[in-house]
Amino acid sequence: MTPQEIMEMLHAEIKAEKNLGAVASYIPELGKVNPDYFGIYLTSIDGQRLSAGDWDVPFSIQSIAKVLSLSFAFNLKGDAIWERVGVEPSGSPFNSLVQLEFESGIPRNPFINAGAIVICDILCSELENPKEELLSFIRRVANNPNINYNPIIAASEASEGYRNFALINFIRSFGNIHNEVEEVIDLYFHLSSVMMTCKELSETFLFLANAGIQVDTGERILGVSMTKRINAVMQTCGFYDEAGEFAFRVGLPGKSGVGGGIAAILPNDYAIAVWSPRLNTKGNSYRGMKFLEQFTTLTELSIF
Ligand code: GLN
Repeated sequence: MTPQEIMEMLHAEIKAEKNLGAVASYIPELGKVNPDYFGIYLTSIDGQRLSAGDWDVPFSIQSIAKVLSLSFAFNLKGDAIWERVGVEPSGSPFNSLVQLEFESGIPRNPFINAGAIVICDILCSELENPKEELLSFIRRVANNPNINYNPIIAASEASEGYRNFALINFIRSFGNIHNEVEEVIDLYFHLSSVMMTCKELSETFLFLANAGIQVDTGERILGVSMTKRINAVMQTCGFYDEAGEFAFRVGLPGKSGVGGGIAAILPNDYAIAVWSPRLNTKGNSYRGMKFLEQFTTLTELSIF
């Protein structure tokens, strides 16, 4: 079977099974999404494109965007960012506060909310117009001028964002937030609200499979060593307290979001995006995990 046939077969099989888990509803706007959407898109460096299901429906990529804000901050500040945020798996939920107390406001890694908020603070210090410049960076990586924030989702998240407000204030009390809380959290909520289709998301992530170079434009987005490090952090921390399980079952560096998306890459080969809104108890897409496990097993296209 070709990878396209495997993709279609798995899509149909998994769609026919019961869709378990729950749509994230703590962000009211996300709770309105049809839970049965299920899309997949794979883009390879050598120009292959595979797809199945609802791959052209835009969705809120949520925490997947943390990879892009991290790439931007890493590019701007280099290794200095690692003084403000660590690179160890947290082993705790994405929005947890507990480790911060013991670790003096230095978040475990840039993909839990605490770490992504510190990265947003770094961007606020470095940039004149952080929201605009971050969006331009994302468009450059995506080679797509139509990528946008969704202001309705950003506002919806802010309206119920008590835990993220708690996190940012707590981190600031340790001196690891340097800008106004309102400015930084606004950037964080906008970052989370970025909308993409599976196709756009896989195209955006392809530079991480291609040693940091945007495949269509040939533009270098990140150095080779920086790209290696981002991929390593995705591998160890991209799925919160399910990162080990994802490595075990899927075997690709990747990143999930509570919108139900997962983006993953196979270095020197492809980027894949899967979207299905129902989440397991760890906040990762139920069908997305299931699909990727079987896809990498049957195609033997994983890093291990
Ligand atoms: N914006 C979401 C939040 O802060 C992101 C969480 C996620 O996708 N894991 O709660």
